[in-house]
Amino acid sequence: MLVSTLALLKVAYGRFIIGAYNVQNMEQVLAVFRGSLAARAPVIVATVPFARDYAGARMLQAMVRAADEMYPEAVAAMHLDHGDEAHCLDAIQSGFYHSVMIDASHLPFEENISMTRRIVERAHAAGLAVEAELGVVAGQEASHSASTRLALTDPDQAAEFVARTDCDSLAVAIGTSHGAYKFQGEQRLHLDRLAEIQARLPQGFPLVLHGASSVPSDEVARINAAGGKLNPNARGVDPADFARAWPLGVAKINIHTDAHLVWYRVHREHFRDHPENFDFRHPGSIFMEEFEKLIITRSEQLGCAGKLDEVREKIYAAN
Ligand SMILES: [Zn+2]
Repeated sequence: MLVSTLALLKVAYGRFIIGAYNVQNMEQVLAVFRGSLAARAPVIVATVPFARDYAGARMLQAMVRAADEMYPEAVAAMHLDHGDEAHCLDAIQSGFYHSVMIDASHLPFEENISMTRRIVERAHAAGLAVEAELGVVAGQEASHSASTRLALTDPDQAAEFVARTDCDSLAVAIGTSHGAYKFQGEQRLHLDRLAEIQARLPQGFPLVLHGASSVPSDEVARINAAGGKLNPNARGVDPADFARAWPLGVAKINIHTDAHLVWYRVHREHFRDHPENFDFRHPGSIFMEEFEKLIITRSEQLGCAGKLDEVREKIYAAN
């Protein structure tokens, strides 16, 4: 069942977090829907503009619609991740997405507000929700060049931003970064900053964390043992922090890098161990199983595992 992103975030607020998984191929789409069922957890299916360039917007839509028909018991919302203004308008017109993220956090504060405000007006008129971003999440972003800057979201600015833009959720920078090299040395989420942001926002306003993959050290070790080249000191978010983040208003986190690491590990190990194989279905099948396992594990850590029936009933009751 495809449902509104905002309805999911409202049910989740304060109680658990919903994982948003980026998809760009059939294997990922199937794994996310199967993962929703296996974890009994709602999911957010996200596409970045790179995915549209790779698979084509029509193909992405067709794959998600087909998966929804195959697994009608799954609960999923469709989200455009890291759109610029043109991407967001395109997604709003497509009639396919439930929410868009306007990625204008690299712009000066006033320009971020005005661009976000423009997208909010168009999106709300079409019934979509808008995620905006304030502060700088370091690392490689999908829509603009790599940034090593890290600027934590200012709580007073966050309050002003939300009031003036009327956005529906806000991605905040509290120490996470995009890509496989999140934390070098000391790793921590600035939960104190998160609490300050939540305290200044309207009651129940959902927050989002980008760059929230965990980059498990055993995964990195397996990849490198199979010939990969990842920095063995790469660190992500400690999954134990998720349970500290949902009481502070985080209702959605983006999981992108961890899914790529599964793909990287499965294929490296498969071709190392089976050099005679040239059938793409073999590593593809293993990848889908392993990605599904990641979704189950993350859903348990995010607190959304086992919530599928409750979420479905609450969304029905609200409509
Ligand atoms: Zn992001």
